[in-house]
Amino acid sequence: MSIEVQNITKLYKDQKALNDVSFKVNDAEIVGFLGPNGAGKSTMMKILTTYIEASEGSANVNGFDVNADKKKVQSSVGYLPEHNPLYTELYVKEYLNFNANVYGTSKSRIEEVIELTGLTPEAHKKISQLSKGYRQRVGLANALLHNPDVLILDEPTTGLDPNQLVEIRNLIKTIGKEKTVFLSTHIMQEVEAMCDRVIIINKGEVVADKYLKDLREGQEQIVIVEFDYRVEDAFLRKLPNVGSVKNTHGFVYEITFLTLDDMRSHVFDFAHDNELKILQLNQKNASLESLFRDLTN
Ligand code: ADP
Ligand code: MG
Repeated sequence: MSIEVQNITKLYKDQKALNDVSFKVNDAEIVGFLGPNGAGKSTMMKILTTYIEASEGSANVNGFDVNADKKKVQSSVGYLPEHNPLYTELYVKEYLNFNANVYGTSKSRIEEVIELTGLTPEAHKKISQLSKGYRQRVGLANALLHNPDVLILDEPTTGLDPNQLVEIRNLIKTIGKEKTVFLSTHIMQEVEAMCDRVIIINKGEVVADKYLKDLREGQEQIVIVEFDYRVEDAFLRKLPNVGSVKNTHGFVYEITFLTLDDMRSHVFDFAHDNELKILQLNQKNASLESLFRDLTN
């Protein structure tokens, strides 16, 4: 297991930025941490990289406890902070050299990360002369210097133009073939483009954790139905292909079906056969977009 978060709560004075958050990230996965601004993404990442401590709960990165084994966590993790703080007066190589000295990494590794992140044509320039896309590459190169197993990238594609976006996404996907990548974003398309899995966070709480292949295959169809009378959940589970049944409020039920076929007619027949009246009947596609909207609205 690369990242293991257990019941983390973080308070800033009396404001709860994270509330009882738990999740796991497996080795060599690219996991998107998706949530609107203020959801608690950066806070979680700062805890995982040992910059701040949680108020409650525990977390392990690469098997090391973020409180007890800070140094080992730091050597396991490459971190690209949200506002990638670069010394713009330095040349690319100077900057990487400086950080390599801090980490105690070899000179040959600097050339390796320059190559890996596609910085070679710009490596002789001052950071202030670079485009935002190339600055992100410098940040990624820096995060990779000590060859960590886990990369934690806080909004790595925010503020890039469309061409830079495609390039950085591809670079992250390439890196993700060998390393565990945990990246945050508030843009769901970023998750679709790069990730194997998405963990959605809203107001400090994890509200979904899904593999994208399951979402893409559209295996989960949600039908929302309102009857004129209470129905037992177990009764509704007799419908074909039912995954789950939830009574959301009043006589409104959210039924998840594990099929691509439109199940509304089955629900209609079911109501008719059981002398129930349907007051509303809607189908939702549980794609990432609708999932994100529903969960964060
Ligand atoms: P995200 O990265 O998802 O946008 P953050 O983790 O930055 O969210 O912030 C979560 C919440 O915690 C926000 O309401 C933010 O204002 C608050 N917050 C973040 N950092 C601090 C801080 N150092 N002091 C006080 N409140 C903070
Ligand atoms: Mg943030």
